[in-house]
Amino acid sequence: MCGIVAHIGSRDCVPILLEGLARLEYRGYDSAGIAVLSRSGEVRVHKAKGRVADLAAGLPARFKGSPGIGHTRWATHGEPSDVNAHPHVCGPIAIVHNGIIENADELRAKLSVDGAVFASETDSEVLAHLIAASSADDLEEAVRQALTSVVGTYGIVVLDARHPDVIVAARNGSPVVLGLGDKEMFVASDVAALVRYTRQVVHLDDGEVAAVRADGFVTSTLDAQTTIKKPSTIDTDAASYDAEGYTHFMRKEIHEQPRAVERALRGRLDSRFHTAHLGGLNMDARQLREIRRVLVLGCGSAYYSGQVGAQLIEDLARIPAAAEPASEFRYRNPVVEADTLYVGVSQSGETYDTLAAVQELKRKGGQVLGVVNSVGSAIARECDGGMYLHAGPEISVTSTKTFTATAVAFALLALHLGRIHDLSPADGRRIIAGLHAVPGQIEEILAGEQHVADVAAELANAKGMFFVGRVRGYPVAREGAQKLKEVSYLHAEAYPASELKHGPLALVNPELPTVAIVPSDELFDKNLSTLGEIRARRGPVIAVAHTDLDPKLADHVIRVPKNEPELDPILLSVPLQMLAYHAAVALGNDVDKPRNLAKSVTVE
Ligand code: GLU
Repeated sequence: MCGIVAHIGSRDCVPILLEGLARLEYRGYDSAGIAVLSRSGEVRVHKAKGRVADLAAGLPARFKGSPGIGHTRWATHGEPSDVNAHPHVCGPIAIVHNGIIENADELRAKLSVDGAVFASETDSEVLAHLIAASSADDLEEAVRQALTSVVGTYGIVVLDARHPDVIVAARNGSPVVLGLGDKEMFVASDVAALVRYTRQVVHLDDGEVAAVRADGFVTSTLDAQTTIKKPSTIDTDAASYDAEGYTHFMRKEIHEQPRAVERALRGRLDSRFHTAHLGGLNMDARQLREIRRVLVLGCGSAYYSGQVGAQLIEDLARIPAAAEPASEFRYRNPVVEADTLYVGVSQSGETYDTLAAVQELKRKGGQVLGVVNSVGSAIARECDGGMYLHAGPEISVTSTKTFTATAVAFALLALHLGRIHDLSPADGRRIIAGLHAVPGQIEEILAGEQHVADVAAELANAKGMFFVGRVRGYPVAREGAQKLKEVSYLHAEAYPASELKHGPLALVNPELPTVAIVPSDELFDKNLSTLGEIRARRGPVIAVAHTDLDPKLADHVIRVPKNEPELDPILLSVPLQMLAYHAAVALGNDVDKPRNLAKSVTVE
């Protein structure tokens, strides 16, 4: 789940490993470590609980070598500690591992019978022992043999003191990408660790093993069939991975949203036929007409943006659409229908639960599109077609610009489906004009940041709060509550405003603020009645609205520019991101690396 970086070439790899690990810090981790082959041919390891900067500061004198492997760990088996940090060593073998070995206990018991002694409590150490126990002559084969007895997910890189000219990587459910340099090669779990050194990359597929040498690589399947890989070029610039003067990536990414939306729209609006042009769907109008239902699958913010998307599809295309957490869908033995279009949403394209849902759908013959930010990622490759967000790398654990870009991508899909069905050219034109207005309107919202920060500073003192919205406003409320929880650690609960009086109103009191989504749409008056009910119980109200409201109904109003009603949720979400950010800053939290969370959840 966390970070891997490795290097093979003639230069000392320690600075590359440390720099790469620092680039992966954003994913969240609890410990870090590196292992290199020293000049005298022995494996040297330096690892510790805590930050990469501390690891670098505590590096022993003359700690140099090549090749080398590095890791940031997000503990799943065994507490965060120096011993449990990776790399793990067994004799000449050193290994870094992302993921979970499900049959680790069983393998550990078997290896112990043969005399193995384990230093750590991790599942990963088992891999080092299995590889070391192999009788194969070459490392690649030893890794293959070891992996045949393993059940679980892994992205690994292995170093062997007996074979200094090669490192071996393998993937199953946890991303591994090779970076191609000039007489040197890199391996990482995320291109963020590579962009400073190379733009040419190769993504491994599940079940693939790569033998990586300074002058090239060979990939094969677990049963030793050679595979052919085509390198691709990373299209983002290295600056996207820097905070560029912002105090936090989260704030930088909130402010990047106008540009992210422009990129998501670029080349996709067709003002001649008043529709969206989506080349990657790989489905023509006739096939799309056959669709009777749409089901969007995602986890966390991807799920909430999917709810916004489903609503857009129902609104514009009049096709029944819903969203469901991918993590639930995959376990409930879903009925897969031929005339349902399934859409998997994931920023990283590696979210394990969403990938597993997509794979289950494929196995049952379902049609699946991907809405993904990371080009070439596992979900993108697994789907029949889809849309890339082009939002640029998102470094903050909390999703902001990809939430917005996903909602925009769904607006394009809804417009495209709508124009194939009954959406009139006039309505198509109206939505296109609305989409063109979104970047400028986000700029307007961002210009009001100070007011939101002031409100947030007040809210930071609350013990918890409600977020309420109706119909289109409900997923906005859910995402707002999610953001607040993630970075401020305040308890936040989202409810459909219509449900309040069916139970939760009992909690409303002067200590529990409610953030209400109150767009000027057909439900405006209904929302005002809800505010009246809250105020009658002296509950503080912060309204996100298109107009000023009667001060009797709201203590604070955060104004948002009006767009088309269908597109309003995209804009209404932005102040809630700022609210969560500034509440977290007021509370002194580590905004970019919220406790217990990791960026892309590649474990179950
Ligand atoms: N399961 C392994 C551990 O707990 C790897 C965790 C990770 O992906 O960082 O050490």
